Amino acid sequence: TNKFKEGLTKTRSAFVERVEDLMIRRKKIDEDFYEELEEILITADVGVNTVMELIDDLRSEVRKRKIEDAAELQPVLSEKLVELLQGEDQVTANQIKLSDNGLTVILFVGVNGVGKTTTIGKLAHRYQQEGKQVVLAAGDTFRAGAIEQLEVWGDRVGVEVIKQQAGSDPAAVIYDALKAAKNRNADILICDTAGRLQNKVNLMEELNKIYRVIQREVPDAPHEVLLVLDATTGQNALSQAKLFGEKTGVTGLVLTKLDGTAKGGIAIAIRQEMDIPVKLVGLGEKMDDLQDFDPDQFVHALFS
Ligand code: GDP
Repeated sequence: TNKFKEGLTKTRSAFVERVEDLMIRRKKIDEDFYEELEEILITADVGVNTVMELIDDLRSEVRKRKIEDAAELQPVLSEKLVELLQGEDQVTANQIKLSDNGLTVILFVGVNGVGKTTTIGKLAHRYQQEGKQVVLAAGDTFRAGAIEQLEVWGDRVGVEVIKQQAGSDPAAVIYDALKAAKNRNADILICDTAGRLQNKVNLMEELNKIYRVIQREVPDAPHEVLLVLDATTGQNALSQAKLFGEKTGVTGLVLTKLDGTAKGGIAIAIRQEMDIPVKLVGLGEKMDDLQDFDPDQFVHALFS
């Protein structure tokens, strides 16, 4: 929880402190109050549709519970935010799914620069710390430097990186990595993939080929396809989620750089519009700046 609190400092001061200030200053819950609240939420990138829904919910709660003092609205707002973030499938949906009988395969997708490599490194570190054996696959053979960058993380964390030379077939790299992971009796294989958005068709073909290779070797895999999104890009992250999410079989989202933005509300907008849960959040550049996304903890870190 402390990590959350620290990492969300910018969002807390831009969003939460403004909400709290509003509640104290206005006291009365009238049209002006709702209007100002709406504006604060939209500025924090909660997303217009979500904000409208949220305000409607608040209005009916205010009527139902006969709330008069604006300050009493804060716990109601927290409650609603947690509900929005949990979605219909509740808390369990936010956890990374692992295989219960052998190798877990996790695939990472996302455009360049969003923090994909860093997140892979952090996650490898986490599993390594838990005593699991981890192997990384350098499946982004397209971008210059991607392989070396993953190797830097591999060295840092102390896990093996399976690679081929730049330009080679990513599916072949993944195949090698699956073989290596099985030979070493590894618990977890984390695969990087290329993240170019232009020529989407190629990317889709490439991913489909990778899926086929994985499923041939490990029938219930990939266990997760995680799309990495940069929270500092706000609504842009949401567009990427829509673009990737519908076509690539994404099972979970990773929201990076939440520490670097006041627009942490994007987590809520994405959850609301996507039906794919946020599973991990990045709260800094260091190895242990990765957290499971627990809606309850997230909202409480914001408002405490
Ligand atoms: P990739 O191109 O998607 O693999 O992106 P990288 O992993 O190379 O990350 C791009 C930049 O974002 C690097 O400078 C990272 O240190 C930084 N970065 C990644 N995740 C986070 C995060 O959660 N918080 C902060 N502040 N920086 C991050």
